[in-house]
Amino acid sequence: METVTHYTAYRPRPFRREEREKVTILFGGLTWKHERLVQGALHNLNYKAEPLPNVSRADLDVGKELIDVGACCPTIFTTGNLISFLKSKVQDHGRDYVVDRYAFLTAGACGPCRFGQYHESYTMALDGLGLRDFRLFLLDQNQLDQGAANGGGLEINLPFTAGIIWAILCGDLLTDLEYMTRPYEVHPGETERVLRDSVEYLYEVFRNRPIRGKKWRVLAWHLLSDYFTGALRRVKKMWETIEVDRLQPKPKVKITGEFWLQTHEGDGNYNIKRWLEQEGAEIIPPPIAVWLDYLLRSNIQKLEDKREVDKRAGRKVALVRTLQRVYRGTYNRLRRALGNLPYELPNQDELRRLAAPYFHNRLAGGEGDMLVGKALYAYHHKKAHMICELSPYSCMPNTMSIGAMANVLGQYPDLLYAPIEIKGDAEVHALSRCQMILTEAKKRVQQEFDEALAKTGLTIEAIRRYEERHPELRRATYRVPHRGYPGTATNYVIHIAERMGKM
Ligand code: SF4
Repeated sequence: METVTHYTAYRPRPFRREEREKVTILFGGLTWKHERLVQGALHNLNYKAEPLPNVSRADLDVGKELIDVGACCPTIFTTGNLISFLKSKVQDHGRDYVVDRYAFLTAGACGPCRFGQYHESYTMALDGLGLRDFRLFLLDQNQLDQGAANGGGLEINLPFTAGIIWAILCGDLLTDLEYMTRPYEVHPGETERVLRDSVEYLYEVFRNRPIRGKKWRVLAWHLLSDYFTGALRRVKKMWETIEVDRLQPKPKVKITGEFWLQTHEGDGNYNIKRWLEQEGAEIIPPPIAVWLDYLLRSNIQKLEDKREVDKRAGRKVALVRTLQRVYRGTYNRLRRALGNLPYELPNQDELRRLAAPYFHNRLAGGEGDMLVGKALYAYHHKKAHMICELSPYSCMPNTMSIGAMANVLGQYPDLLYAPIEIKGDAEVHALSRCQMILTEAKKRVQQEFDEALAKTGLTIEAIRRYEERHPELRRATYRVPHRGYPGTATNYVIHIAERMGKM
């Protein structure tokens, strides 16, 4: 008789409180900046914590070997990334050392896409490696205070969650500064240097964060204290030293797409942000903060649908709306500390309204209706010349939004849109497709720049002479107001004309 081994769901072994000093918590999936700050927040709570190495092309092959063939490319990359790391540690220290000394923390949720099942892929891969007793823990993105994990070694409470959220927000703000500065830096490498110094400084800020109480007092302190805004004001001073030349018409490219793929900086998305910069573009990076705002909006939508059957739904909607206002207010407060240089968050109601004719807001997989909403938001508000949407191979939600975008483009044929399918091993094809649209975006930015010079009667030489008399204009922290053009150089010309009294 053949013995059938039935499926059993993975349950992590207990992680006991007394093991905390010897177990390193691994995490990943963000940029190195976000991860370093999250590490600071975890060190602050006396966890040993370490980000996984950045995803590499080789991780794709490792992942493909161990999980199901239909998995989407972010699942394959991230699983391969964890497994490559564990394999190398097993080689160095042996299997028992790895299962005892490491645990992995990852975000989890339920939902129609694979995001709700990443941990299943991880456990399938661990089974394949004979590491099933390695411990994986899920950080539920819908619960701020999950309490202690089995054994009490990991406590996902408010000090823990607030630290991670604030680290993510600060990581987003720094990333905005980085991408708006580097294309215009006068001395190559300066942005990178200041960025690294800022991240290290903020790491210390998070590591030394005072913890006031355990429950809601902690959250109140994060919301009201000057601790983080003061630190960001210091960061702004660091960025003030960078000299920029904004008189370079560069197409602005807004990056959208699947959450992991758009956030990632490396082989997982063909390093497309750096590649676009090298091709002469300025990138608008996708902040993770928008995703957190979207989660709040999704909750409001669900509650609104219940109004007729739940008498308290109205009150709950009001409560979540207040939370959303507090959240957005906090983000703006942090932005203000950086001179309002980082981009503001798009209004979620507007994203929903713009996407509504093309994509139903209750289709909640992946980024939901935000992909369509963000493209139209950038188009209507003239924030970017071109949208580059990073779509993972084998991703159901993204395939739907690309289909919906065909309808959008039928109505807005001048919207420059480059949907790039990323499967990890078709780089030349993806980048050449992006380059075609970028060529058109370059023509547009040059045209609007020439028109701005003609309209204002200014010349490059006249602006250069004015800059000599006003050196603050060439600082990275000088804020150029948006004057209705996507291009930084064009808005700069209009702004100088206004300052000179020519408009
Ligand atoms: S959104 Fe797509 S790529 Fe991302 S986890 Fe879901 S299915 Fe995978």
